[in-house]
Amino acid sequence: MAGMNNINERYFILTYGCQMNVFDSEVISGHLEGMGFMPAENEEEADVLVINTCAVRKKAEDKVLSKLGKLKFLKEQKSTMTIVLWGCMAQQENIAKRVRERYGFIDLVGGTHSLGRFPELLEKARVSRRVVVDIDTVGEREDLPIRRGHSFKAWIPISYGCNNYCTYCIVPHVRGPEKSRPPQSIIDEVKALAANGYKEITLLGQNVNSYGKDLKEEVDFADLLKSLDSLDGLVHIRYMTSHPRDFNEKVIRTIQEGEKICEHFHLPIQSGSDKVLKLMNRGYTREYYLELIHNIKGIMDNFSITSDFIVGFPGEEEKDFEDTIDLMKEVEFDAAYTFIYSPREGTEALKMDGQIEPDVKKKRILTLNQIQGNISLEKNRQLLGTKQEVLVEGRSKTNPEKYTGRTRTNKIVHFFSNENLLGMLVNVKIIEAKSWTLTGEYK
Ligand code: SF4
Repeated sequence: MAGMNNINERYFILTYGCQMNVFDSEVISGHLEGMGFMPAENEEEADVLVINTCAVRKKAEDKVLSKLGKLKFLKEQKSTMTIVLWGCMAQQENIAKRVRERYGFIDLVGGTHSLGRFPELLEKARVSRRVVVDIDTVGEREDLPIRRGHSFKAWIPISYGCNNYCTYCIVPHVRGPEKSRPPQSIIDEVKALAANGYKEITLLGQNVNSYGKDLKEEVDFADLLKSLDSLDGLVHIRYMTSHPRDFNEKVIRTIQEGEKICEHFHLPIQSGSDKVLKLMNRGYTREYYLELIHNIKGIMDNFSITSDFIVGFPGEEEKDFEDTIDLMKEVEFDAAYTFIYSPREGTEALKMDGQIEPDVKKKRILTLNQIQGNISLEKNRQLLGTKQEVLVEGRSKTNPEKYTGRTRTNKIVHFFSNENLLGMLVNVKIIEAKSWTLTGEYK
């Protein structure tokens, strides 16, 4: 491996999309530092520039394509720079073809399964005159080097890919079928992190609730949570993303009985209309979802529930949208992430009749955000005057005495202190409430 001759060279990674991509970028950093590269402050300084892409919505792809325009210019200034297009967008055949035809200044195209082969692919791309493309659909993912972004919290993938094929979603097409990691590898990894002072882990998967279904041994998500909850040292165990259809009572009771598992339930419902849920192939009904929420409220004491909504899905009539509003008001989510339906190449929904006009989509998302904003504000106001335990995650770039942290129920809290509290668990008194954030007093 030619690692040693990269000593004076630097790398920079632009990461788009979800936490799984953030994790993949941490592995790419681990590879590059293993090859002798040092981190650069910015893209201009980089000798190796990696763009780790997202394909979940058109907006994410457009961002990358406009970035590529700028990078073409940068490469003309610095011809020795190696440019790498990576991730979900790069995994798609048509993108690799477009790179070959139009973006000749890109040196390496690598997909979501190529992480284990990154060093050899980069070496090859740095000596080859032609763009190197690797969007093979198999690849090792265990025991890869990693440069974690934090010293007190870590992303822990527990499974990769998804088998659900929701009709609007590109993920199964670019990340492949579900593959669970062996439980012992996950437990050993978390044990080592806890021994090194890590306080919080977030378990990652496109659908964490179907963890273990593809493994020979009898293990499911609740079992894994229980094993991790028994480990010393950690204070917070978080997880994302759940699929309501696979969220069962065993998981709810494990969270209730657990010591470290955070009482935040993120359950993307997407729509409140049974007709639209069917068209989306979500695999559950409005009634099933409300029953699940009812169960959680019946078993749990202090918790929060958040969700995702898509408006403007093909065939969504005014009545369907009213069903969504009605459900949002009935559940009273602590927060909700709302998205306008984005047609994706290769998905079922792209071919569906009844595509919705852009201005109707816009009107619906504004309505939904306003309703949820009021509900979230009311929910957050109920915390005024209470003391909340917060894990301190960040410090303001402009004011070093301004900190940000999150409660076990995933509420974002800002507060001030002149002590160095990064990575600490502190109690703050809530003195102000807004729809999306809280302000605390730390004494
Ligand atoms: S569950 Fe549905 S929306 Fe989520 S990643 Fe899988 S296919 Fe996509």
